[in-house]
Amino acid sequence: MKTLVVKIGTSTLLKNGELNEAFIGDLARQIAVLRQENWRAVIVTSGAVRVGLNVIGCERAVKLAEKQAAAAIGQSLLMRAYRRAFGEVDLHVAQLLLTRADTADRRRFLNARHTFTQLFKWNVVPVVNENDTVSTEEIRVGDNDTLAALAALVCEADRVLLLSDVDGFYLPQKSQPEAQIAQITPEIEAAAGGAGSIGATGGMRTKIEAARIATRAGIELVIASGAEPQIALKIARGEALGTKFLPTTRIRARKSWILHGRRVEGVLQLHPRARAALVERGSSLLPVGIESVEGNFAAGALVLVRDQNGEIGRGLTRFSSGELSQVAGKKSGEIGAILGREVAPAAIHRDDFSITTALSDG
Ligand code: GLU
Repeated sequence: MKTLVVKIGTSTLLKNGELNEAFIGDLARQIAVLRQENWRAVIVTSGAVRVGLNVIGCERAVKLAEKQAAAAIGQSLLMRAYRRAFGEVDLHVAQLLLTRADTADRRRFLNARHTFTQLFKWNVVPVVNENDTVSTEEIRVGDNDTLAALAALVCEADRVLLLSDVDGFYLPQKSQPEAQIAQITPEIEAAAGGAGSIGATGGMRTKIEAARIATRAGIELVIASGAEPQIALKIARGEALGTKFLPTTRIRARKSWILHGRRVEGVLQLHPRARAALVERGSSLLPVGIESVEGNFAAGALVLVRDQNGEIGRGLTRFSSGELSQVAGKKSGEIGAILGREVAPAAIHRDDFSITTALSDG
């Protein structure tokens, strides 16, 4: 069986401000057909906040508490709609509410994977959303495009379909969407609104970010129009619709979790000579190769590793930022004395390091 993650944004799910039950019913029928073609589906749904606000008669939520409360109201209505629609085709649905903290912690990440596996065994369709009611700024994923890519990592999906109100990804001045993207170049990032720009949730920027996460883990991602009839069926069958982002590499599952499971909390700047050991020889990163440390983090944090030419990779540090600052540039034999305890010298063990330069996605 293959797994398709289908992400439905608020604008696709709602019609004239109300839940579009006809759309959900149609999707349920497609997913029922897909099962006979050896595809199972995972739904990532938005709309909890909007639907909740509708109930209260509120135009929009400004405060975080308003959004959280609206999501608590809307989420149960979303599930009622999915339950009803999938019931019509004799499928059960299950609600999974995730936060960034669930993907950041390796144990919780695997736990969530076990839940997916069991639901698949039982033939139940998982319906995922962010747990907006409890997710504060620090622990939220923030947008469901990224959440869909993370969910795909968790459930080891084969393809992600982001349903949008546009029919694909457009480069400037083009009248047709790009059919295939093999590499997320700076040009593509710029066309999506820049990698670092702060936008509203959704839009192309978060979709490109989701594509980066998925394709690095060997998962194909397609952006297509939610208005296209039978879209989930067509995408599972491999029809050329929308924009398809091709997998760049199939890095080991744990390494893709290292790259994307959690947020980057600091930066290690390396000596120019340290790169070869890490990239070419695949060694662990020793403190002697570190020139400087940015950020304030505890042991176990995800840090970005760079040299004068830019990012080399990301990994889980074995020391806190304070300790790393003390031992940066020091030889392995000196570290125990500096920190006043017996330590294994690697700042980042090779098993906890994932190279990003070699993935050459710009
Ligand atoms: N989790 C949010 C909701 O259900 C949606 C986030 C997004 O639109 O990307 O309302």
